[in-house]
Amino acid sequence: MTITLLHHTPLTICSNAIRTCWQSFDKSDNGGEKDKELIDRVGNKFKHASTLEHLSYNFYIQGISRALLQELARHRIASLSVKSTRYTLKELKDIEPFHTKDFEGASRFLVLTGVQAVDSASIEALNNLQAILKSGVSNDRAKYCLPESYKTELTWSINARSLQNFLSLRSDKSALWEIQNLAHALFEALPMEHRYLFESSIKTKEG
Ligand SMILES: Cc1cc2nc3c(=O)[nH]c(=O)nc-3n(C[C@H](O)[C@H](O)[C@H](O)COP(=O)(O)OP(=O)(O)OC[C@H]3O[C@@H](n4cnc5c(N)ncnc54)[C@H](O)[C@@H]3O)c2cc1C
Repeated sequence: MTITLLHHTPLTICSNAIRTCWQSFDKSDNGGEKDKELIDRVGNKFKHASTLEHLSYNFYIQGISRALLQELARHRIASLSVKSTRYTLKELKDIEPFHTKDFEGASRFLVLTGVQAVDSASIEALNNLQAILKSGVSNDRAKYCLPESYKTELTWSINARSLQNFLSLRSDKSALWEIQNLAHALFEALPMEHRYLFESSIKTKEG
């Protein structure tokens, strides 16, 4: 998967929002250590977590499976705009079927698990779908036999409070392996000066 951070809110927006409550704007150090400490103290330690909602992150996420997408979509406090299979299945229609052991070629369309039996079955499903498309069935109907491993991409926007919740739930070893990878990749894509807000949410990756 590839994660691109498209945009993020500067920390000063959040520290200024907090300073609104006490009108202490003159104490700001323009996003320096004093402002960072204030955000952590009020947003995290004092649990005035709504102040963290002033920080937003816009990500472009590529190469995740539709299996992961349906778990990601459960996080209601976030916004998604997802590549439409109805419009993009034509990418598959005009190429040759894949050999069931052509993992490298098929990885253009599928997220592979590393378990050969599963990945070959995914390739077969992809080839079946392709044959159906070539026979003239519309994308609208053909998409119902997409394998869950089919790759997709989306723009995902989330505020810091909700991202903390997401990272804490989805970097946990009880979460699906692919969403654990996503959680870690999102953390790594954050600006360095923002990461301290999420360090207690993200769980250490195993292996
Ligand atoms: C390991 C794991 C296994 C899971 N297994 C399953 C499963 O088998 N089946 C399944 O259906 N789901 C499953 N889920 C999904 C899970 O139930 C949540 O839907 C998902 O993690 C989103 O979490 P959330 O509600 O905290 O996030 P968000 O939807 O982003 O909500 C963020 C926070 O806002 C508040 N909030 C949002 N909406 C409401 C509301 N309507 N009422 C009150 N408070 C609200 C809550 O405090 C919530 O934590 C699983 C999740 C994990 C991490």
